Amino acid sequence: MKLGSTIAARQLKYSLFLAVALGLLIVAIRGYQDYYWLDGVYQQGNQRLISSSVPVATQVLAKHDLELAEVMARGMLNNRSIARVTLTNADDGIFYELKRPAGEIPISRWAEKMFAGLQTITVPVRDPDRQPVTTIGEMVVDLNPQVYVDAYMTRLSWSFLATMVLAAVMAMAFAMMSYFIFSRPVIRLGNYIVNADPTDESRPLQMPPEHRHDDEVQLLGSVTVGLFGMIRQQLGQLRKARDELQNANITLEERVKQRTQELNEAMSKLEVLASTDPLTELPNRRAYLARLDEAISIWRRRDTPVSVILLDIDRFKALNDTYGHQAGDAVLVALAEMLRKALRAIDLPARMGGEEFAVLLPGEELEGAMILAERLRKELEKSSVDFGGSKLNFTSSFGVSGLPSSAGMAALDPEVAKQFDALRKAERADISGILYSLADQALYKAKEEGRNRCRLADFKSLSEFKEVFPFDV
Ligand code: GH3
Ligand code: MG
Ligand code: MG
Repeated sequence: MKLGSTIAARQLKYSLFLAVALGLLIVAIRGYQDYYWLDGVYQQGNQRLISSSVPVATQVLAKHDLELAEVMARGMLNNRSIARVTLTNADDGIFYELKRPAGEIPISRWAEKMFAGLQTITVPVRDPDRQPVTTIGEMVVDLNPQVYVDAYMTRLSWSFLATMVLAAVMAMAFAMMSYFIFSRPVIRLGNYIVNADPTDESRPLQMPPEHRHDDEVQLLGSVTVGLFGMIRQQLGQLRKARDELQNANITLEERVKQRTQELNEAMSKLEVLASTDPLTELPNRRAYLARLDEAISIWRRRDTPVSVILLDIDRFKALNDTYGHQAGDAVLVALAEMLRKALRAIDLPARMGGEEFAVLLPGEELEGAMILAERLRKELEKSSVDFGGSKLNFTSSFGVSGLPSSAGMAALDPEVAKQFDALRKAERADISGILYSLADQALYKAKEEGRNRCRLADFKSLSEFKEVFPFDV
């Protein structure tokens, strides 16, 4: 805040202006009154002096008394507004004249204008002893109001000076008053408002600066504190609401996170369940077919061979009938365990349904697959399953099929190799279906030929799939 823009400063400026204007008016009115009063004094004084001097002048002129004339004239010139006294005879000859020395009272040009200016008054002098009345001469008096002009000017100057001083003092007093009554309390209140921070809840709300009067400034202070209180209260509520919302958000986020995790876990469980056989915990037909499809596309693109072994427990019905369904289950579980142990990590054993199992052998030629099938067959034949004190023995029959690599095909009949080539190019052919059918045919053959043996698929029958799977061989 600039000092010049304070209310007190403006107050000083305007009251000074007003006081000077009023003072000038008063000086003007008083000057006017003074002038008329002084004018009255001046005129009456002159009149009185002249009329009281006329009898003396009569004596002087009647008796031609020069001495008396001088006494009279000197007496009159004691009045400083009289500049010259002349006594003339009836024949216009000057009898006596006395003039104030030049320069004794310098004449200003105001003297020519004020109090009727420089005047000359001529009074006839008559001899009272002669009848009829005879004029014996004249008394001529030159008047100069300079002394009155000076007096008047002095009075006016002092009056002006006094009024101006009074105006200045009054203006200062007014400004001080307004500073102490209004500006200072308002400035203090302003500083308080600037420094008080109603949003800082760590500090208690400060009271406005002390004010002794029950006036508008006090009211303003009270209103400000009230407003600050309201701001603080509203802010507190807002902060509380924000915290609650944040907490609710955190809780909600945590719950969503937890639920998402639960859902993910449930989904992966479901995934496992959907692709796992519950009894043997081996991959089921669905999982097996998915992996087989992958292996087939790799065969198509990279010429990587893939083989499939299909195996079925021999006369399982009889085993069930003899030892019970639970014994059958135990055999199925044991067989699954044996498969798991006997195979490589990349091989995939699966339960296709009932007592039928399959083994997917990615990267394996038919020859290798036959060797593995034979090994498995022997292992199963040798093994026995403990159930309720009895040892259960069983055998299985195997059917092998697959997709050989180009190198593997070289060992095959050229006609068969040609058919595999055609199969590789036939985009829409259901190769997994064909492989299964071929393996199943081989398995059937193994059963037919007495069970507990392995048979390779007869790939010559590939051409038989022509009408089922529309590709050109
Ligand atoms: P084959 O040598 O010709 O294969 O004769 P098989 O008796 O094994 O064949 P078949 O198809 O006549 O009988 C299969 C039996 O397998 C019938 C069914 O009760 C039994 N079976 C299928 N699934 C299960 C199972 O999960 N647990 C048990 N315990 N038995 C099953
Ligand atoms: Mg069977
Ligand atoms: Mg069967």
